[in-house]
Amino acid sequence: MRLGIVGCALGMHRVDHTKVRKVYGRETSHCSRCRQVLEQEPEGHWIVPPMHDAGLGQRPR
Ligand SMILES: [Zn+2]
Repeated sequence: MRLGIVGCALGMHRVDHTKVRKVYGRETSHCSRCRQVLEQEPEGHWIVPPMHDAGLGQRPR
């Protein structure tokens, strides 16, 4: 939905709480509107991880 994407462009992603998974001790999920991968910081703040790119070509060394 376009209206949702506007919110995402402003950094206001909507975390899909039904898809939360623990990866390496961190809770990860994605935005239910734009599918941006999100990570939850220990204090409960959801951020966009800078390096994870959903397998689009960037490999960890
Ligand atoms: Zn989003």
